[in-house]
Amino acid sequence: MSATYGGRNNAKRNQHENRGVRRRKAFPHGGQLRHVQKRQMHDEEIREHLRLVGGKQKVKVSLIDFDNTGFPNLALMKISANEKQCGNEVKFYEPLFDKPDLVYMSKVFKFNKFSIPNVPGVQIYAGGTGFDWGQLQDEMNSDHSPDRISIGTRNKLTDEQEHICPDYSLYGINYSIGFITRGCIRKCEFCIVPSKEGAIRFNAPIEEFQRHKKVVLLDNNILACEEGIDELYKISKTDTKIDVNQGLDFRLVDDSIAELLAKLKWIRYVRASCDSDAVFERVKKSVEALKSKGIKPYRIFCYTLVKGENDVQRILELDKLGIQVFAMGYMNFKTGKKSQIIKDICRWCNRKEIFKSEKNFTKYRGRK
Ligand code: SF4
Repeated sequence: MSATYGGRNNAKRNQHENRGVRRRKAFPHGGQLRHVQKRQMHDEEIREHLRLVGGKQKVKVSLIDFDNTGFPNLALMKISANEKQCGNEVKFYEPLFDKPDLVYMSKVFKFNKFSIPNVPGVQIYAGGTGFDWGQLQDEMNSDHSPDRISIGTRNKLTDEQEHICPDYSLYGINYSIGFITRGCIRKCEFCIVPSKEGAIRFNAPIEEFQRHKKVVLLDNNILACEEGIDELYKISKTDTKIDVNQGLDFRLVDDSIAELLAKLKWIRYVRASCDSDAVFERVKKSVEALKSKGIKPYRIFCYTLVKGENDVQRILELDKLGIQVFAMGYMNFKTGKKSQIIKDICRWCNRKEIFKSEKNFTKYRGRK
């Protein structure tokens, strides 16, 4: 698979380089280059122009991960792989030392802060659901950035970037990450997936991104996709250990799926979600089905959405099933904040030393 991608890219790169020689005659220095950059440019053209600056053949690419959550940013790893395949130098941006030719910055979570790097005249790409595009536009137009060429805003990678094996060396991780499917069949009102990714569909076979024995799948609803289930069957016949870290939709677990899940090797937990009282009974049935196939309840990790005190009872009911319950506090998208009651419920449920010693939330809150 990677050889095919490499071959395609090399051919493309040679084509670009040849074109670059022709253009070098037309735009021999930066002044004329700036004139050209006033119009909308495609990536290929940007790279050609960057190569022209000072006759550079190798573009210095800087990456910025504003989230810093400890979990690697998949988009940046793919961009890194793609840029390296084009022969470019890629590293995380260090403001005091780096003079990049091209910058990619990513932000997944809204609550994290960002600042635009001070790199006059350099093309910057911003991508990710965490950016407030209005704020980004204001920053771009502000007086302190007169020399910036432009900021491209993107929520999607190009096909070439998307279907490449991520550069795992960027974060030095010893497991692989990827999406076998994208999208979801449901439209939960609190969730960004339906608007960001759309309907469920097959994205890539595991071979496209697996380079380690352990694989973390970021799929949002793999059980809703036939090809996704086929991939899981394939994985179950190997020694690959997986984690579906966004959680499985337990409403879709029937007897055959329960058998499949029992055959898979899990890194630690079989993750699920139970975001409302309406799905509780279905989740309970699935926990029992998995138990009958040999998956003990304590190996099931269940996310549950918390919007207020009404959700406390569901946490207690899930706990009675013997599974690991994890409260996900609802955040107001406009303010980027969680109410105090939501924070308290999440702390009570998620701090296991607290939860084990006090199952009564009202009492816990009273003595806090
Ligand atoms: S099932 Fe999960 S991924 Fe799908 S819309 Fe609901 S919360 Fe989002």
